[in-house]
Amino acid sequence: MPLSGSEPVSTLKAPPKKALQAFQVGQVGRDTVADYLRKGWSLAICCKACERLVEWTPPELARRFGDGSQVRVSALVERLACAGDEGCGAREIAVFPHLFDGKWPRDA
Ligand SMILES: [Zn+2]
Repeated sequence: MPLSGSEPVSTLKAPPKKALQAFQVGQVGRDTVADYLRKGWSLAICCKACERLVEWTPPELARRFGDGSQVRVSALVERLACAGDEGCGAREIAVFPHLFDGKWPRDA
């Protein structure tokens, strides 16, 4: 994914193939988007089919869902697909937290 000028270079890496294929939504637990924001985590989204990896950083999560969003990450997983121009269209998606490489909260 191309990074804009103000974005830090991410250290995010795709999980090992085995872990990716073994992913179950139950592993996500009960965390909400707001929990991820509080912990300074990015949501890493990885397609099981083509291994495309996308990072939703805390600023991105806040933009999409709002700072205090009580949406469960486990509920998001069911709505995700490997979409967009580079996507393969698969709906088997794994997600995992990644400690954000940038500054968060923005004004800390
Ligand atoms: Zn895909």
